[in-house]
Amino acid sequence: MESCCTYDVPFARRGSVLDEDDLVALTRVLRSDDPLSAGPWRSQFEDDFRRYTGAKHAMSVTSGTVALEIAISLLDLSPGDEVIVTPQTFHATIQPLLDHDVRVRFCDVDPYSLNMDPDCLESLLTDRTRAILLVHYGGWPAEMDRIVELARSRGILILEDCAHALGATYNGRHPGTLGDIGCFSFHSSKNITTLGEGGMLTTDRDDWAERIERLRSNQVDGVFTTAQPVGAAAPALLPYMKYSDYIYRDQCASIRRAGTNATLSDAAAAVGSVQLGKLPAFAERRRNTAALLDQVASQYPGVRVQRPTAGLVHAYHLYTCFVPGGADARAQLVQALDRRGIEIQLRYFPLHLVPEWQARGHRPGECPVAEHLWFEEQLNLPCHPGLTDRQIDRLVNALDESLLETYGSSNDPGWRDDALRMPGAGV
Ligand SMILES: *Cc1c(COP(=O)(O)O)cnc(C)c1O
Repeated sequence: MESCCTYDVPFARRGSVLDEDDLVALTRVLRSDDPLSAGPWRSQFEDDFRRYTGAKHAMSVTSGTVALEIAISLLDLSPGDEVIVTPQTFHATIQPLLDHDVRVRFCDVDPYSLNMDPDCLESLLTDRTRAILLVHYGGWPAEMDRIVELARSRGILILEDCAHALGATYNGRHPGTLGDIGCFSFHSSKNITTLGEGGMLTTDRDDWAERIERLRSNQVDGVFTTAQPVGAAAPALLPYMKYSDYIYRDQCASIRRAGTNATLSDAAAAVGSVQLGKLPAFAERRRNTAALLDQVASQYPGVRVQRPTAGLVHAYHLYTCFVPGGADARAQLVQALDRRGIEIQLRYFPLHLVPEWQARGHRPGECPVAEHLWFEEQLNLPCHPGLTDRQIDRLVNALDESLLETYGSSNDPGWRDDALRMPGAGV
């Protein structure tokens, strides 16, 4: 089979490393007599995830997208409700809202973290605000203390899209436990994977855990089962073996409230447990790569790198920096990197400007910081644990050479940092 990748340093087709340990776990599941659905391996992975994050409930599903669909359905949104969302995320974070008759307010972002700006969030609050949908962009935890404070006093629910944030911490706590519900992805490109696809919901709310259980599985009670030893129970079971409309209706009432089937397979979950055990090593490799890129990038005046504030651990699902000189200079830089075999993918086109959201009345100018950064400054570079030392060397050198080619010597006196004079920009 031909490789899909022609770059020396690819972006992240795989965001983690799969090796012998994953194979051993997989082989154990396949050689066991355990069911391959809703069996002990899935329970084990969910226990491991609960222990790791500190969430009261961790419930696996087949993807991050399904986790988000289920989580949004738990918000019980009504017509006229307002939902505040970030424009700087993958479209799946907010896509289900297209099917709800709610008013979506896009909140502009902080120019360093690309997370929702709490001041902008505060200005968007009304007495119809029902929920906040945020992402921990690239693995930098959002400013949860302020956001939670704004939400709690008004009874507003917070959904955290943690697809990037596994491995990050916020004052020692894990994303997915800071708001009301967390949604994780184990897609091939994410910080760990469950054989390419998978997701997890985390919440402390028992009522929501019950609803998730019904929504993620379409299992209903059997009309007749010999799962219990018959013997003493036989007289009670016998009526079910005969046709009776009354008994059938009674037993199958739950069909009407059955959800979809979004059950993560046990084979995938077993690999998930192994991957979770290796997460600290994967995360350290991401942080080390990011530090090397920061070191080179920050030598060039006008290039801004991410420096998370004290108390935050960045998971570096995405490595992000910001370059000066406007759209043309950035395009030149991207071409220079491309010529050196570095694959560039910019994440993410501001969502309020995609046709589906413009059709709902959203327009350019609504989130000026997010727009300015995406169209002129933002650069995402490969930063995943699958990169070899050689590839990391190559990446770091290519960045240095490309910045030099685009902007000239790092001592160029003509440089001005216009970015820092943007309205609302922090330093
Ligand atoms: C990957 C991703 C998702 C979707 O997860 P899948 O498991 O691919 O369905 C949602 N939100 C964000 C921010 C993501 O990066």
